[in-house]
Amino acid sequence: MPELPDITVYLECLAPRVLGQPIERVRVASPFVVRTAEPPIRAVEGKRVLALRRLGKRIVLALEDELFLVMHLMIAGRLRWRDRGAKVPGKLGLAAFDFPTGTLLFTEPTTRKRAAIHLVGGEAALAAHDPGGIEPLACDEPAFRAVLARENRTLKRALTDPTLVSGIGNAYSDEILHRARLSPVTLTSRLDDETWPRLFDATRSTLIDWTERLRAEVGDGFPEKVTAFRDGMAVHGRFGKPCPDCGAAVQRLVFAENEANYCARCQTGGKLLADRALSRLLKKDWPRSLDELEERRERAALTPSAPSATATATPRAARAQGTRRRRAERRRCRRRVALGPPQEPHDRGGLVELLEAEHDREAAEPAHLGEPAEAEHHQRHAGEAEPERRRRGDQARHHPLARAARRHRARQVGNEAGDAEPEQRASREQAGTDRHRRGHGSSPVGAADRPRHRAEHQRKPCRLARRRHRRRRRATPQRRAARPAPGQRPWAAPAGSHAVVDRAPPESVRS
Ligand SMILES: [Zn+2]
Repeated sequence: MPELPDITVYLECLAPRVLGQPIERVRVASPFVVRTAEPPIRAVEGKRVLALRRLGKRIVLALEDELFLVMHLMIAGRLRWRDRGAKVPGKLGLAAFDFPTGTLLFTEPTTRKRAAIHLVGGEAALAAHDPGGIEPLACDEPAFRAVLARENRTLKRALTDPTLVSGIGNAYSDEILHRARLSPVTLTSRLDDETWPRLFDATRSTLIDWTERLRAEVGDGFPEKVTAFRDGMAVHGRFGKPCPDCGAAVQRLVFAENEANYCARCQTGGKLLADRALSRLLKKDWPRSLDELEERRERAALTPSAPSATATATPRAARAQGTRRRRAERRRCRRRVALGPPQEPHDRGGLVELLEAEHDREAAEPAHLGEPAEAEHHQRHAGEAEPERRRRGDQARHHPLARAARRHRARQVGNEAGDAEPEQRASREQAGTDRHRRGHGSSPVGAADRPRHRAEHQRKPCRLARRRHRRRRRATPQRRAARPAPGQRPWAAPAGSHAVVDRAPPESVRS
């Protein structure tokens, strides 16, 4: 999500292009992007841009007649500056604003459309869009401290809360905490008089440094590569890579759908923070410190017998292991459903608080204004995810096993009409796959209708079933061999058979 430095550079690049210029025309490509009905979006046409502002992570164009165009880029929304009248790109384009100097395109290259435009009239209506956080670059240290310490929260949560601090999200909060050498889960009540100035200075210097860096990168152009994952970041988005200050691998703390990155050696005194995803899985195997983690790695490297044993295990053993793992996962899943969400006593290192933060934050604002904690990695993979998934889907569909399974299913559906070969039916029954006989088959006929359906088809099979039946009869070698010779009566017993019945049936049968 574009945060304070990104938004600042956007505004600086927009200023020479749109300030004092009228919006000649609005083209809205996505019907959902404009979230306000009154005043209508067409009202901006002909109005000049008087000022540009930042409101938290939103971009505001102040227009004539007290109109304010509020653009919230959310996670993947981006601005593009193109030649006047440029086409709105098909799938990603949300809207276009034509100025005499060029066209401002609003795009969002994901399938989850969350970016929003609000058009409001008057300062009072605009104030409703302000989450109310303090401006970190316009306040002094006591004010910063007073706001952050108002409630006892983890630093990560406090910094990213838009109602406390304006313009800081997941990316720059990671960077700020790394620069301040503070753990993301330290509670604000635990900070002492010596630590607060450090946090304040780190916040300011990180934001200022990155703004200057982005400004230099853009130069006279318009920001095209706005991302939360930038080269040169110390920890954010760099899980497993070396910390630029100490060289230790960057760690992560997964919460909800998001993650915080930190350097254990620089920020937490070597302590690994209990992570919901990992510590629940590993339980007692979870290493408590960086030293312990490294010790284990070394041990694993020195004793190759353990990993290679699993690698060269027999396929049977591997299968058994897989079954055990799946069963355990199913058990865990059942337990989780039975227990409901984790309770307070499970909290480790303020993690529950981090989770609550996400809920609080989303509850604090209406859904369409919410700060999505979700997956900045959507953005990271935005371009490549779709073709990659499609490629994998194709691979799976054309896999020989998948084809065999499809043929098998097709055969079962074909047998619905009651024309199964005896040996096939026997093998299916043996294998326990005779699903359609128990009413679970993939036939379009519902289980309740099945007996009637079958009865009808036994009386007179449908045309398709009759044809299939004929083809089967022809195709089986045994049948071909047993086919009556020309001229022979098909109902007569074969020559030499003793099964010829020449007696009249008994009395009981005749009546
Ligand atoms: Zn470090």
